[in-house]
Formats: sequence, C-alpha cells, structure tokens
Amino acid sequence: MGLDGLKNGPGAGFAGGEGVPVDLADIMEQMFGVHLSSMGGGGTSRRTADAVRVYEVTLEELYVGKHVKFSSKRKVVCPTCKGTGGKPNAKPKKCPACSGTGQKTMVDMFQRYMHVVCSDCKGTGEILHAKDLCKKCKGTKLVEEKKTLEFWVEKGMRDGEKIVLKGEADQEPGKETGDVVFVIQATDHPVFQRLGDDLKAKLHITLQEALCGFSRVILTTLDGRGLSYTHDAKSGKVIRPGEFFKIPGEGMPAGKKSDAKGDLYVEVEIEFPENGWMTDPKKIEELRSLLSMKSSKEPEKKDPEIVDEVVMEEVSVSDVEDGHEHGWETESDGVSDGAPEQCATQ
Ligand SMILES: [Zn+2]
Ligand SMILES: [Zn+2]
Repeated sequence: MGLDGLKNGPGAGFAGGEGVPVDLADIMEQMFGVHLSSMGGGGTSRRTADAVRVYEVTLEELYVGKHVKFSSKRKVVCPTCKGTGGKPNAKPKKCPACSGTGQKTMVDMFQRYMHVVCSDCKGTGEILHAKDLCKKCKGTKLVEEKKTLEFWVEKGMRDGEKIVLKGEADQEPGKETGDVVFVIQATDHPVFQRLGDDLKAKLHITLQEALCGFSRVILTTLDGRGLSYTHDAKSGKVIRPGEFFKIPGEGMPAGKKSDAKGDLYVEVEIEFPENGWMTDPKKIEELRSLLSMKSSKEPEKKDPEIVDEVVMEEVSVSDVEDGHEHGWETESDGVSDGAPEQCATQ
C-alpha cells in the first residue's frame, strides 16, 4: 500500500510447511531467497491482506461528524496484461529452475525434505522471455494506482470503532482484494472527557459567584455554542467545591440515526481570590461579620487540655502528589495487579 503509514496486516501466503516451524521458514528465506509453501501448495491465502490504519479524530469531530477525503496509492492487477505479466501472444516457456513444477525440493538442516515455491517462476512453473514481458508492468503483473478515497466519521462514533473501505487494499492476480480499515482513535480533549454518551467537564466559578450567584456563559460546547447559566443566590443555594451538576442533553450524540444526546456533567471548582486581595483590617472585619456562620462539620468537642501553636509551610500541589518521594502510597492510576507498587512508575 502506498498510503502513508499504512501497514499491511499479518502477511498472507507465508505459512510454514508441514512440520516446519515458522522461524525455520525465515531462515530458509534468508539462506535461499525462497518462500516456503505448505505441502500440496494450499498455504497461500485467497485474499490479500487488509490495510489497517489508526485514524485520529478530535472530540469535536466525533461530536459533529467528519468527511474525510484522501489520495491513496495501491497495487492493482495490471490492466494491460490482466495480470499475466506477458504480451497478448507471448508463449511462456517451462521454468528451467523447477522443470515446470513450480516447486523445488530442499533439505533442511535437520535432513528433512520440504517443498518450496520456485523463486524464478513464483510457483507458476512457467517463465517468459524478456521480449515477451508486458510493457506496462514489466512482467510484475501489478501496477500502481492512484485514487481518491473518502469516508465519513459519523457523529457519536466511539473510540476503537472501525470504518471499512471494502476491497481497497492491494490487489494480487487470482485473489480477492482485502479491505482498507480505519480504526477510530479519539484524542484527549482539554475541557471535555467522554464517558460513553455523556460528557464531563469542570465548572470553574469564583468564590464570589459561589456565594453571591452569577449569570453568564459557563462552557463552550464541542460545536461552538455557549452554555449560559443563571444562579440566583436569593434561592439560598450555595455552590460548593466538588459538587456535580447535570446538564441534560448536552452530552455526545447517541447514534448516527437519532438526534438524541447524552448528558453533560459538570464538577464545580471554586477559584479563591488572589493573595493580597484584601488587607484592609476594616474590610476584613466587615467580611468576617458577613460570613459569620456556624460550621456544621466541626463536632462539638471539649477543649483539649494541651494546645500547641503550629507553623504551616506552603507547599506546591506537586510536592503532595509526588507521594512516593515521601514514601506515600499512590492511587493515581488505580491499577492493581497484585504486583508490588513501589516500582510501578519507574
Ligand atoms: Zn520455476
Ligand atoms: Zn502487465
């Protein structure tokens, strides 16, 4: 295949002979330049290999769908000689290397006999004079074809889904043509995380908005719409860090045929004011009185008899998340296969 980065699947027509391990077949090929075929010659596939390629798409593209058009090169059976490799009236001669049998008998290093495909005539038993070779393909039976291929990434497609272009792989004379297969791979998105048909995102609001309410665009959707929300503090609802909200119908498209969509889940993250935003003692006092509240979380305890004044040092988040430096257990990837964990990240 001439497609950039396209790789053919496991090769066809390369089966080891009876009782001959595959690695020996490799050795034989290197030593004698021949391909092993199985006894009786039934070892070659009747279909050319599929060309499988990973196709990366963004979450935006999976949300709206995408039309993909690209130019492709592949080998096709020569149209001039129809895959014979010769001129119309060329008379092939019996291959001298194999006496027309198409096979050679060889003895391997363990003194076993085996049949291999004749490399001179490629197993046909016949060979053409140079003057009789097809001018178009020079006797190779194949020519390169350039072609424009296209396909649709349907909206809502999942990671790992396959798009099959039937019969677009390399051709070979006498074989059914394999397919070009694209495997969808979604790239990570900076804002949205996909969970099946649902989406998840962070909702960043300020401390002021959490306490006093807001009315604004909170997120831009994957098709570029703004999602506006009004939170009225007069309702009495306080928005807390880590709270989840569901926005119905703003998830991924559920399928190619329906217009249904999953839901969008947003997790609240509260941005606190910058350091130094308020240093005026009078204002601090005002705010203190405004925020005077009794915490329900603090259980009523008796005052301890001994009270120590402590110092708290500022550390960065990475200091804490790099837990193994302190000998802490990490739960970052959550994978536990029973193996000791201390070397997992090395
Ligand atoms: Zn031959
Ligand atoms: Zn030809």
